[in-house]
Amino acid sequence: MNQTSHIQAPYSLKESSLHTHTDFSSVPKLDITIAKFGGTSVANFEAMTRCADLILSQPKTKLVVLSASAGVTNHLVKLANGLDDVAKSETLAAVRLIQEEILGHLQTEFQPNQALTNLLDRIDVLAKECQTKNISSDKRRMLADELVAHGELLSTTLFTAVLQQRGVCAVFFDVRGVMKTDSFFGRAMPKIELITHYAEKTLKDLVADNIVITQGFIGSNEQDQTTTLGRGGSDYSAALLAEGLHASEVAIWTDVPGIYTTDPRIAPLARPIKNISFVEAAEMATFGAKILHPATLLPAVRANIPVFIGSSKDPNAGGTYVSQVTEETPLFRALTLRRDQTLLTLHSLQMLHARGFLAEVFAILARHQISVDLITTSEISVSLTLDTTGSTTTGDALITPSLIDELNALCRVDVETDLTLVALIGNHLTKSAGAGADIFDVLSPYPIRSICFGASSHNFCVLVPSKDADEIVKALHKKLFE
Ligand code: ADP
Ligand code: ASP
Ligand code: MG
Repeated sequence: MNQTSHIQAPYSLKESSLHTHTDFSSVPKLDITIAKFGGTSVANFEAMTRCADLILSQPKTKLVVLSASAGVTNHLVKLANGLDDVAKSETLAAVRLIQEEILGHLQTEFQPNQALTNLLDRIDVLAKECQTKNISSDKRRMLADELVAHGELLSTTLFTAVLQQRGVCAVFFDVRGVMKTDSFFGRAMPKIELITHYAEKTLKDLVADNIVITQGFIGSNEQDQTTTLGRGGSDYSAALLAEGLHASEVAIWTDVPGIYTTDPRIAPLARPIKNISFVEAAEMATFGAKILHPATLLPAVRANIPVFIGSSKDPNAGGTYVSQVTEETPLFRALTLRRDQTLLTLHSLQMLHARGFLAEVFAILARHQISVDLITTSEISVSLTLDTTGSTTTGDALITPSLIDELNALCRVDVETDLTLVALIGNHLTKSAGAGADIFDVLSPYPIRSICFGASSHNFCVLVPSKDADEIVKALHKKLFE
């Protein structure tokens, strides 16, 4: 008998986590909004000006969390990977250019020249250190985090000045004093008790009298070394700070007016969703909807803080409200897609009626710090995809020769790449008769590598060749949503 199951990605919300043991309604809320602006929203002076207008029109917005200006983190990640001298100076020049465009629009008295020089010099030093060949991988990951953190330090330095030039009482705040994490460089886990403690101690009074501008994505460990929360992590930062401060709302300002039924870049007829539940939105984020970092809703659920998602380009275009309960729970809510999936298939006759085989496989994967995402099993084989959410490494990079050696001692291993996971997000999927008919009708012309369904009533996942994925999403969207 074949079985399929879905192992929760580390970030996913279990339905049971909605029923928290703490009664958050008894914790008095701080009546402020925490606003997060993504990379495109702070890409240049014009975009920053729109954000400033928006903040000025919303008196409850007291804490502002920023991403790096669009493109900067990618440049810094390249530098962290150790470029040759020519590529390094070109990349540094590209980073400087983005900062200089914004600086050029500031009057001399508001130009944060010294702070910018210090940050750019430090980037230079760190980029040089990353070029060194003989450093340990731990040191490299530590240097990389400090380096990429500079994108957010630069954008917040400049945006504070943009607001000050507008006459706003804006203060720059280095979030690393509050956003305490473990030492897993590249994808650190936040420590919410410490974050709450430091937020209470250092941020609470500051937001009472100022508009505080701080960094998303970055934090620090026990030794005060800089860490990062994984790519796209600024959304998560905003939600964590909201939980730490007991804020009454989080607003995620991005380049689209809310969460759509699928990525509007893929299906132009995708439409915005007005209200969505925490569980549905978390499933979407987990299964690849880039609009939210997958962990964003965990703090929001724990503290029951509603999240709004809107467009900083067009704030009056409305947006999506994510909250605990919604009036409607449609069978089909949205489609998402996660590219660059790696599938490991392990075959072994020993698996037949054996006990403990999977436990051994998972122990090996855990030792290699690999998080398993989807899994399907048959009598003598098991297929699993690797979770690389938020990581700067792809799945195949995680499959090192030493991992393969260890697995080969146990079974035969096949590795497949160029796969994409398409997920249909909805409600009561496991209880609704006939829900599969339309789905399989659309999928019938395509080869399907794997299907995961049944563990959650909120998702149905298929792993397909990457070249077919956009077409499948378009076809499913047409059949189920248009
Ligand atoms: P930011 O820089 O503001 O964090 P991102 O690029 O991370 O913005 O996320 C916004 C992008 O997410 C949109 O431009 C859109 O292409 C993509 N996206 C993917 N899935 C969805 C979806 N279901 N709804 C809306 N946007 C989506
Ligand atoms: N700047 C970081 C990134 O590009 C974090 C973020 O934008 O949320 O991944
Ligand atoms: Mg993002």
